[in-house]
Amino acid sequence: MAQLDTAQKLSILADAAKYDASCSSSGGKRRSSLGGKGVGSTTGGSGICHAYTPDGRCISLLKILLTNSCIFDCHYCINRRSSNVRRARFTAAEVVTLTLDFYRRNYIEGLFLSSGIIHSPDYTMEQITEVARSLREDHHFRGYIHLKTIPDADADLVTRAGLYADRVSINVELPTRSGLHVLAPEKSETRIETAMGFMHSAITDGADARRRYRHAPAFAPAGQSTQMIVGADTASDRDIVSRAAGLYRRFDLRRIYYSAFSPIPDASAVLPPSRPPLMREHRLYQSDWLLRFYAFTPEEVAAATDPTTGMLPLDIDPKLAWALKFRGQFPVDVNTAPKEMLLRIPGLGPRAVQAILQARRWRRLRLEDIGRLTVSLKKLRPFLIADDWHPVALTDRQDLRALVAPPPRQLDLFAG
Ligand code: SF4
Repeated sequence: MAQLDTAQKLSILADAAKYDASCSSSGGKRRSSLGGKGVGSTTGGSGICHAYTPDGRCISLLKILLTNSCIFDCHYCINRRSSNVRRARFTAAEVVTLTLDFYRRNYIEGLFLSSGIIHSPDYTMEQITEVARSLREDHHFRGYIHLKTIPDADADLVTRAGLYADRVSINVELPTRSGLHVLAPEKSETRIETAMGFMHSAITDGADARRRYRHAPAFAPAGQSTQMIVGADTASDRDIVSRAAGLYRRFDLRRIYYSAFSPIPDASAVLPPSRPPLMREHRLYQSDWLLRFYAFTPEEVAAATDPTTGMLPLDIDPKLAWALKFRGQFPVDVNTAPKEMLLRIPGLGPRAVQAILQARRWRRLRLEDIGRLTVSLKKLRPFLIADDWHPVALTDRQDLRALVAPPPRQLDLFAG
């Protein structure tokens, strides 16, 4: 590997990390340096800005790889063994220095560290853990740390990583076992899920211990997350929703990130030539919200997909697609319906539903009251009853979809 200075390494290894979508710092326990030792703080008001890219990804973490060299050859990955990219590698000490420098300048609120696999999973995990150890123990760093852990690494190393990190994650990569087999033949779904199961137990035990003993060490208090690549294999949205629901149920994940596959230079011939529409990624995030915040079952979300292709519609959101399929459930009376039914009304989010439940304790709600809680009353009208609004057979109309769907938008010529 040619001798590179820190700036050159940073340019290569920050660029290589951009393919990983899972960098949100939500859910972290807030640390503060006020009145004590340490540098930085994850609480607001310290000059640390939270910046997001237009597609909602958090960019206020220093997001880098320890190295983009890898002994594995996953087809979809730009860092795979056979890829013809320029390689770089940081030492653990270099990542520590960079993180502290960026933190002190208020560029970041923490570190997101991942890595290609060098020498062996254990060796790589040791290096990743050493960065977090040094930040926490040598420099009393109170910022947020998200570590990617290596599924095949020794459990003791992973446990140590969890004691320093706020959040840990292991990427499941592909939604199906067959997809993983074809595109990442050196990885194994069983090993990935065993590692996630181990992490889940350690997080649960750590939280239990903290409840009982105030000074018990925290283990990844912001939980674990994972990422699925969308569109690199033939998995349908229905497959993805079903896998996501299983992962949430079994491993109590904080989040699943969906990352639309991006064609990479020198791409393997087994990959599709173009990326899926970004809107597909967006619809999957919406379906994820239905599972987590709207009490939809995986089967109900799956019912919003096209029965032939298993794909979610791109022109309307999955909740509206579900409502259009199950019109018999509507209209819902906002003055009497239970919370779970209010959450089914297209265009009403959990906050709006909470406001409705609160307000109707004192008075009967009219359409204009609901209008103040949403951006699109047009979308809601056919699906609800209010004190002064009783839609007559609107949900029976043949053209209901056209009536409530957002108008088609001119696509960006250069969008992926
Ligand atoms: S193990 Fe990770 S870094 Fe290595 S090729 Fe596979 S996805 Fe890329």
